[in-house]
Amino acid sequence: MTTTLWHERAAALKMDGRAFIDGQRRWAKSAQQFDNFSPVDGRNLGAVARCQSDDVDLAVVAARCAFDDGRWAGLAPAARKRVLIKFADLVLKYGDELALLETLDMGKPIKYSLSVDVNSTANCLRWYGEAIDKIYDEIAPTGSDSLALITREPVGVVAAIVPWNYPMIMAAWKIAPALAAGNSVILKPSEKSPLTALRLAEIALEAGIPAGVFNVLPGYGHEAGAALALHMDVDCIGFTGSTKIGKQILQMAGQSNLKRAWTELGGKSANIVCADCPDLDAAVDAAIGSIYFNQGESCNAPSRLFVEASIKDKFLEKALAMMPNFQPGDPLDETTVMGAIVDATQLKTVMGYIEAGKSEGAKLLSGGEQVKLESGGYYVAPTLFDQVDSGMKIAREEIFGPVLSVLSFTDINDAIREANASSFGLQAAVWTADLSRAIKTARALRAGTVHVNQYDGDDITVPFGGYKQSGNGRDKSLHAFDKYTELKTTWIRIS
Ligand code: NAD
Repeated sequence: MTTTLWHERAAALKMDGRAFIDGQRRWAKSAQQFDNFSPVDGRNLGAVARCQSDDVDLAVVAARCAFDDGRWAGLAPAARKRVLIKFADLVLKYGDELALLETLDMGKPIKYSLSVDVNSTANCLRWYGEAIDKIYDEIAPTGSDSLALITREPVGVVAAIVPWNYPMIMAAWKIAPALAAGNSVILKPSEKSPLTALRLAEIALEAGIPAGVFNVLPGYGHEAGAALALHMDVDCIGFTGSTKIGKQILQMAGQSNLKRAWTELGGKSANIVCADCPDLDAAVDAAIGSIYFNQGESCNAPSRLFVEASIKDKFLEKALAMMPNFQPGDPLDETTVMGAIVDATQLKTVMGYIEAGKSEGAKLLSGGEQVKLESGGYYVAPTLFDQVDSGMKIAREEIFGPVLSVLSFTDINDAIREANASSFGLQAAVWTADLSRAIKTARALRAGTVHVNQYDGDDITVPFGGYKQSGNGRDKSLHAFDKYTELKTTWIRIS
């Protein structure tokens, strides 16, 4: 589609910021709202319901009733499967509209909203739908005078609290396994990107998910989010977001009903390129493509690049040659690969880190400035710092923007030690032609995912999550069912 046509569609798009509770759109009980601004051009996309604890109470009652009467949990897995597959089909049917909402709401290029966000969301819903009627329970190998059944049951009411960087995908990673397992779900999208979540709730209803089973509450984290985390009748919380708020979620779970609390948090992933890297061009492509994808707003972005000193100049020459390809453009132009930073606050954070890099002595080789100011939106040029030291702020803290820190090493053991000297442990990578070195390094790196000679390993079949302060949960794969199900043992005496 042409850029002009996308803009026309954007201008004509109807956005509904009301919450979705018990199958109906409604404003917050207090009637409070907040304005939702687009990072693309700064325009006001409209009012959104500012849900608070009384709205949370309403949604929890609806979700609990729906769970208790078995309208969803009581269906055969094959019946839930059919509905989830229809849900996935409808996501694709409304793909253009969802992609447009995603791009306008959080600034990512329409090209990726369509090809990545919409497709991954549909794929995730379909995969968990397909999986649920193929999982068997267990019978324990006990003695002959009894039978011990080990069964999985849905936990009940699940609250999913998600961030703004992949609003639909992060929601799908939680709601798809939780719904497939038979739970009722309350989704709280980020206040920065609530629109696709709200539209997904309507689509779910159209697909046949009964009213009350899937509710969406937009609002601020310290209001709607905290009310969910503290609620005495929410059984489980699936949280994706910052490490700072993840810690609060665990505290709130402990302070209230000890709900199961799963956290998927921040990262500062290390990408180690050895001099014997089998394909330097591929390593450069992956390092640069992965840090600037989604404007650098990816939890698993390889933001710390360790390059062996003997190849660093060559590596940087190739990397700098790629920079023009990543200049921010109009997110509604299908050729744009880097869009807008989500909002003015995040822009300020990113620019603050760039200033810190400069003042701490790192060498700015590219970018470092805000661009496209005339657009009214928030854009940052792809930024690359060389001569970064592990002690610098830009090497230690998650920036969540298009900023790459380059460090060098001469001994792989030093690179591994520095890579692990981080409070995060989400992902890592090593590039080497030496198989033993690859395996030893992969084993030594303290991260939930380690890539060897690539950085784009990604599939719904494998778990995604971190070590250390990158969180305790795993999204994706069959392992996600562990988060949203209880394990029950039933002893039966055989007389
Ligand atoms: P955030 O922690 O500020 O917010 C995440 C969600 O929590 C939002 O919905 C927010 O409204 C809510 N929230 C905020 N304060 C709350 C509170 N007091 N109580 C309850 N809920 C509250 O994070 P963000 O800025 O939206 O997202 C960026 C972060 O998410 C980054 O750190 C990134 O690495 C992380 N992330 C992690 C993964 C992963 O899978 N590990 C994936 C995507 C993003």
